[in-house]
Amino acid sequence: MIIQEALTINKNRLEQRITILSQIGKIAGTGVCRLTLSDEDRQAVETVKSWMEEAGLTAKIDDFGNLIGRLEGENPKAPILMIGSHVDSQPYGGRFDGVIGVLGALEVVQTMKEKNIVPSMPIEVVAFSDEEGCRFNKGLFGVRGILGKLEEGELDRTDKNGITRREALVQFGCDPTQLKESQYPVDSIHAFLEMHIEQGPILEDKGLPVGIVTGISGPLWLTVELEGFAGHAGSVPMPMRKDALVGAAKVIVALNELASQDASAPTVGTVGSMTIFPDSRNIIPEKVRFTIDLRDIDIERRHRIEKQLRNRISEITEEHQLTCKISEDTNSEPRYCSDRIMKIMKDESDQIGLHAIELMSGPFHDALAMSYVCDYGMIFVRCKDGISHNPKEFSTIEDISLGTELLYRTALKMVKD
Ligand SMILES: [Zn+2]
Repeated sequence: MIIQEALTINKNRLEQRITILSQIGKIAGTGVCRLTLSDEDRQAVETVKSWMEEAGLTAKIDDFGNLIGRLEGENPKAPILMIGSHVDSQPYGGRFDGVIGVLGALEVVQTMKEKNIVPSMPIEVVAFSDEEGCRFNKGLFGVRGILGKLEEGELDRTDKNGITRREALVQFGCDPTQLKESQYPVDSIHAFLEMHIEQGPILEDKGLPVGIVTGISGPLWLTVELEGFAGHAGSVPMPMRKDALVGAAKVIVALNELASQDASAPTVGTVGSMTIFPDSRNIIPEKVRFTIDLRDIDIERRHRIEKQLRNRISEITEEHQLTCKISEDTNSEPRYCSDRIMKIMKDESDQIGLHAIELMSGPFHDALAMSYVCDYGMIFVRCKDGISHNPKEFSTIEDISLGTELLYRTALKMVKD
């Protein structure tokens, strides 16, 4: 393991900035609430912008609400190396999610600048607008914005107070009529790097500070509706029942078993939301509606499990004389990280004695949207008990510094060749 003193990046500066940012929108002692395009979000973005300028970058906030700081390259026309993440948060969020990716990226570029390293291509440090998607119920807004991938009507989406995204953008100081100006031409981005807390328990389990991401697994989101027949809980004999909730219970168990059958695979399956009709203690449940979330980095295996699950659902509905409707809400494919970038990360990590392992990302990130236009690479930093989207979220500055050091060395390699 490399000793902390051997770090190229400035650990103290990084720590100070993380601490200062954690005060903006602070809640519950160690948490933050910085909803996208809110006053707190603006304050955070302005603060990071001032640090970018202090580091010698040219910084601006575009009309999507993205903060972009640029370090010019030897060839200013060359496609850009983009590095970043987000500083908006969930309503009951932690102080590291997204933040370490933005401040780590800034640390990378500031270190280069201090060492008088002129990159071959321009480097842009980005804090993307609205990664989380909790305010307007649709995330990855800023990153999809610059790539020209917003959907019809996205500016008309409202938050729970009835404020549209368009109005929120204006309040933030953006001009939603000029969005096209903030888009990036095709092929203008060479690659994207993102460092993020793992939001899972694997690195902690293996006792390692840093991991190299192999890809972001795409979720399959289904909604299942089972329908039986309501009746008095006190009188209808068991063999005559058409109990939709009993069917649902068996489907939940089946999904859990199917996703667990290969303990070495990263497959995960979850039923996280359910409504019961008529929802009364003395009526046999007639209708049950629930969600299914199934993820895997191996799309073939995910397809296989989905098929097995659908077969089980048919058997269960038949057994309990239920009818069943399944709708597909989201079906994203896994997006793999660039082999070239993973190799650089692996070599650099071995060289400093980090020996980072490879792991996949279950949650999605800004990098997911970038994966459709350029090569991308991601670094995960260990977080305590895998907790995130919670004020209890925690990573040590030692681990964050090691991740940032790897990010620095990776970026350096990429802009030197
Ligand atoms: Zn995040």
